[in-house]
Amino acid sequence: MLVSRTLAEVAAIIRPGITTLYLDKIAETFIRDNGAVPAFKGYGGFPNTLCTSVNDEVVHGIPSDYILKEGDILSVDCGVILNGWYGDSAYTFPVGVISDEKRRLLEYTRASLEEGVKAAIAGNRIGDISNAVQTMAESGGYSVVRELVGHGLGRKLHEQPEVANWGKKGTGPKMEKGLVVCIEPMINAGRKETIQMRDGWTIKTADGAASAHFEYAVAIDRGRADVLTTFEFIEEVLNKM
Ligand code: MG
Ligand code: MG
Repeated sequence: MLVSRTLAEVAAIIRPGITTLYLDKIAETFIRDNGAVPAFKGYGGFPNTLCTSVNDEVVHGIPSDYILKEGDILSVDCGVILNGWYGDSAYTFPVGVISDEKRRLLEYTRASLEEGVKAAIAGNRIGDISNAVQTMAESGGYSVVRELVGHGLGRKLHEQPEVANWGKKGTGPKMEKGLVVCIEPMINAGRKETIQMRDGWTIKTADGAASAHFEYAVAIDRGRADVLTTFEFIEEVLNKM
């Protein structure tokens, strides 16, 4: 999917000293050069192509002249529209060398996403995904953001069903083959509570602790779900750095 390639383009230039607005420009140009349209720009009035959320920002950060510094973690969320279909994916990047605490948070958030994917099987219920994500995140001592959730994806950016990152097994809508959902754990190093900034978009942790966010769009199947937004391209780039 084009979102995966776009996040890899961004991955290649993330380093201390550059601004989140610069990343946004690179992403927008890449998306348009590939015949697609940024999905977030103008969505509910959001001003940019990417959501860039640093450290204690959970999601929906607005790209700005903030200069990335060594030790930051940066969640980059990207949506595109290609031939009328939406793509949506997010990855949290280390900026230079990060602390062991932050690295562990990224590992657990990523692992909670993978556990969610394992539970995303036709015949299972959405709550099975929610519970798998929550169980993995909390096993690391982390907390799960309650106010924001994953979602169905298709001809619109946000479709039914909602995919919470917390909940009980065996609850919620049953998944059928062919359903596409975004699974997107937002995991806090500290407490689960969040606050919204006055810009009307940026969500931060209430206690100021770090937060991470990874998102896949997956197509439900009878066996393992098909991940439509692979991180392969991103990790190829990161492994070369
Ligand atoms: Mg997203
Ligand atoms: Mg999403």
